[in-house]
Amino acid sequence: MHMSDRLERLRSSMQQLAADVFLVTRLVNVRYLTGFTGSAGMLLVTDEQLVFVTDGRYQDQSAQQLADAGVEASIEISGTNQREIMSRNVASLGARSVALEADDITWNQQRSFAEGWFPGLELVPTGGFVEDLRIVKDPGEVARISAAAAVADAALASVRPLLGDGVTERRFALELDTEIRRLGATGNSFETIVASGPNGAKPHHRPSERHIIDGDLVVIDFGAMVDGYCSDMTRTVMIGDPSPTQKRMLEVVTAAQQAGVDAVHSEQSARAIDVACREVITDSGWGDAFLHATGHGVGLEIHEAPRVAATSDATLASGFVVTVEPGVYLPEHGGVRVEDTVVVTEHGCLPLTLTEKTTAV
Ligand code: ZN
Ligand code: ZN
Repeated sequence: MHMSDRLERLRSSMQQLAADVFLVTRLVNVRYLTGFTGSAGMLLVTDEQLVFVTDGRYQDQSAQQLADAGVEASIEISGTNQREIMSRNVASLGARSVALEADDITWNQQRSFAEGWFPGLELVPTGGFVEDLRIVKDPGEVARISAAAAVADAALASVRPLLGDGVTERRFALELDTEIRRLGATGNSFETIVASGPNGAKPHHRPSERHIIDGDLVVIDFGAMVDGYCSDMTRTVMIGDPSPTQKRMLEVVTAAQQAGVDAVHSEQSARAIDVACREVITDSGWGDAFLHATGHGVGLEIHEAPRVAATSDATLASGFVVTVEPGVYLPEHGGVRVEDTVVVTEHGCLPLTLTEKTTAV
């Protein structure tokens, strides 16, 4: 992990902030900056200092994890006096303004910061500040996402034969989730989607008691989590003998997804990836059946910046990790979605999810 690089990048972008100190409260951002994985912790960042506040449950863990990550912070353990600790530290720094993560702070917290914690100081709302740093993944992060993707590939390969046995969506999801854990993931990166037959026409269907039968298209969208990092992959499996329309749906979406992946490279606009996928699907006459955006960033969170969509203004750079996941949803025929997680490189991208695309059972 490269925590010192992360803090250095944070500090240099903090200069745009009209605030003396930055209080990081979003746990996933605290983790990103310190390596701390507990459920309670705040990080106060100044040009020179770091103060990490957590509670007694995490006394040993925080000391260990921050040391392992090479983070030099003064660690303060709060009982019921978190407010006192934070007020004292901010006051001792001579700060007159405190930047807060506006997307994380509730209305009540804002009031209590303004009235109780930091009275008389200016509170400066920030948005997406650490999240913007998180967009470019370092090699350690790519390795973790890649490991999560490898677990997902292996888990699907292992349980896929069950699809021909008349299993229910829910049972198949359970077997897949169990296999992911058995293969070393800490869990799923989101609730597994198994959508068969007519259910496949609903992009975010939840697994039901429907039995998977011959003639179904089955959309399987799932991910594993390894060391805090997510993977995301969708494959659509044909059961038995699909109709000519279903075969064509699979061909079109697979071609659209490949066109999207082929369009990925650094300095490419995220919008262009969406356009590349959408063109293939529109040319097939199914443009209106592609019901969602093309993709999203993946990292510590399953959905993070950048958005890969027609309305995105992001530009890709080396080290971004994004999904490419076009789909076509037709109530009479079912749904097809194909999704890979890829890491952006200078001249293209490297897919991390490697399960073959045309999977029949
Ligand atoms: Zn997905
Ligand atoms: Zn996705």
